[in-house]
Amino acid sequence: MIKKALDTEIQFLPGVGPKRASLLARELGVSTIGDLVRIYPFRHIDRSTVTPIAEVVPDAAMVQIKGEVVSVETPPKRLKVTVRDASGEMDLVFFKGLKYTAERLVPGAVFTFFGKPSVFNGRLNMVHPEIDAVQADAAVGKPVILGVYPSTEKLKNAGITGKVMNKLMANALRMVLPETEETLPDYVLKENGLMGLAPALRNVHFPTDAEALRRARYRLKFEELFLLQLSLLKQKFIRSRGENGIKMPRVGEDFNLCYNALPYQLTGAQKRVIKEIRTDMMSGHQMNRLLQGDVGSGKTMVAVLTALLAVGNGYQACIMAPTEVLARQHFANISKYLAPTGVKTAVLTGSTKASERKKLLPALAAGEIGIIVGTHALIEDTVVFKKLGLAIIDEQHRFGVDQRAKLWSKTTDGLPPHVLVMTATPIPRTLAMTLYGDLDVSVIDEMPPGRKPIQTMLITERQRNSLWKFIKDQIGLGRQAFIVYPLIFESEKLDYQNLEQGYEKVVKAFPFPPYKVAIVHGQQANDVKTFNMDAFVAGRANILVSTTVIEVGVDVPNASVMVIESAERFGLSQLHQLRGRVGRGADKSYCILVKGDKVGKDSQHRLEFLCSTENGFDLAEEDMKMRGPGDLEGTQQSGLPISLNIASLAKDGIILQAARGYAERVLAEDPALEQPQNRLLRKELAKGKYEVKDYSKIS
Ligand code: ADP
Ligand code: MG
Repeated sequence: MIKKALDTEIQFLPGVGPKRASLLARELGVSTIGDLVRIYPFRHIDRSTVTPIAEVVPDAAMVQIKGEVVSVETPPKRLKVTVRDASGEMDLVFFKGLKYTAERLVPGAVFTFFGKPSVFNGRLNMVHPEIDAVQADAAVGKPVILGVYPSTEKLKNAGITGKVMNKLMANALRMVLPETEETLPDYVLKENGLMGLAPALRNVHFPTDAEALRRARYRLKFEELFLLQLSLLKQKFIRSRGENGIKMPRVGEDFNLCYNALPYQLTGAQKRVIKEIRTDMMSGHQMNRLLQGDVGSGKTMVAVLTALLAVGNGYQACIMAPTEVLARQHFANISKYLAPTGVKTAVLTGSTKASERKKLLPALAAGEIGIIVGTHALIEDTVVFKKLGLAIIDEQHRFGVDQRAKLWSKTTDGLPPHVLVMTATPIPRTLAMTLYGDLDVSVIDEMPPGRKPIQTMLITERQRNSLWKFIKDQIGLGRQAFIVYPLIFESEKLDYQNLEQGYEKVVKAFPFPPYKVAIVHGQQANDVKTFNMDAFVAGRANILVSTTVIEVGVDVPNASVMVIESAERFGLSQLHQLRGRVGRGADKSYCILVKGDKVGKDSQHRLEFLCSTENGFDLAEEDMKMRGPGDLEGTQQSGLPISLNIASLAKDGIILQAARGYAERVLAEDPALEQPQNRLLRKELAKGKYEVKDYSKIS
């Protein structure tokens, strides 16, 4: 069989060869001609417009000028060419290909030049513009809207310039288009008004006009997002057909005992979410639910009641927290809620003593402990449950896939435990749909009553003294304050120096007596950390100086001030998380962002945005827009588990929504995509591009 052009190695494309081929593979991941045409332009330039030289704005976007060569100078290692049109003059500078260029650009000849204008020695200039003979453009009616492709320094050095990319693309398309087969079924194209694949490929690279470009891009983006959603949702549709979950039909006495003894009314959102969870657990299908709720929205209560549902059906539940401090705090809170019930609970962390383990582990294996709270220690092999029916994971992104899988293997009778993942990192809807496409999502979008707004302020070092005075006033009122230092890489010495120096400054400003300052960071031994933390929680210390170890979950209702040092070094979501540590009690609370002297425009914008809103979802959307979804907090440790060629999760929310809705309709008819009209979809999914590696393992 003759190899198709699509599958032909890129080195055989005219204009490439082995050297450029290896570069294209390394820099752009292109190994076949088919791969190349799937590298899409990130923008387009309109080569039909010629700008008069007098109207060229230095440092603006790329421009095209048309000019006559006036003079050619050859200072050492350079070529300087002056060109002019009716409106003015400018210089062109070349550092490479001097001989060839000098031979071509003879005085009197007219060319079009395309490049990025700037100013050098007070004169308008362009370095290495692309050169075109004038009449060629006009005569053959060459496409005038051209793609601009991702590039790297190495590619440019190897001569793969924008213009060369355009040429390679034209060659590739000439070979590939005649044999391009449609990837989407006919009915999908029709029902969504999509352009066919071959015209879409041609028009995304060499659009005939702006409208064709728009339709081509829409088609390609829709395809990507649609196939991605199909791949994610397929699991869910298949799962919901089988009887593969533990049926938990009862509510149980303990649930009611706890519920009736609550010191407050559940919010409407809490009630709704518990109903959603209960419906899942009764269904006979495994629950895989993500619970999103802003800091302080009351997720712990939901976790407790969910765990009690499992207990009420004769199963055990475990609640996993990302840190020792949090696990212990959860345990303390949960124990309080459980007091009216007879349910036994325990906590297991890395620092649980051997003697204690000896008692705890057999009790767990015997089923005497109904609810166990802990850290990663819970997934060690020595931890055996009698009947694990539910796993609640707090702040999911700190658990690796393997760890989750291990927990999952602790099931007893072949049926997987129900899984509830809780997160306080609000994830924009578009991203949640992608990362957690096969999870059901519940949102607590209502705060418990009585939370006072937090006043957020942005200050500089110059206001340091007023800041200290303000904190003293708050302490005078019996309140406490957090002061947080950035710690980006836990191992970086420099960050610790910052923290230590900061601590000394604070201690100097707040001397003992009467002030007490505690310090907590990741490099302390666990018992030291716990001791200092407890001192602050119990109100013995007025100020807690720390790194972001307090970011998640720590609850000190009496704290009314959150100071964030070098605030520009934090991301929006993280700042929001930190701010959520205050405003939990009845008092008015403050978040004070101290910024450095040199703060970039983006950082300034970020900090001002934080001052303007307390809505976590708005902040998350903004964060994603500013940084791109790959860098989004909560996902940055694993990176995005999927890579898209053309669609953007940050910008293509509307297409994503349409693609998801349509994917649901297709799957409702044909959950496993077995019907003949969906043959092409099955084939595309089988290629594996759309498998989200990471998160699918949750189930
Ligand atoms: P999250 O874990 O979502 O950040 P928590 O569960 O720690 O929030 O709850 C924050 C605070 O709100 C806790 O002090 C908790 O006791 C309180 N709380 C939770 N639900 C309610 C409610 N329905 N009404 C009043 N207070 C509540
Ligand atoms: Mg919490």
